[in-house]
Amino acid sequence: MYHRLRKVAVIDESMVMFEGPCFCHDERHEVTVPRAGVTSYNAGARIQDAFPDLSADEREFLISGLCKKGWDETFGEGELHEGIAPDKGNK
Ligand SMILES: [Zn+2]
Repeated sequence: MYHRLRKVAVIDESMVMFEGPCFCHDERHEVTVPRAGVTSYNAGARIQDAFPDLSADEREFLISGLCKKGWDETFGEGELHEGIAPDKGNK
């Protein structure tokens, strides 16, 4: 998981919130995820299996720290995005 993320809040028994500056702009972002997903991810589950409810952008941020804007700036408008979005035709 992106090393600059911090766990900042426990929303309720099942959800936790992470926040941190994005890798690309140093802007603060936050992502709320199910606690069970964090446990499975830490146990080695693939991120799309651990957090099926997050958007591809949110997952990318959790992994690499790139926000959507930074991803688009780095890789071009959405091109590769199609490829990493598992909800769009996951082979
Ligand atoms: Zn950014």
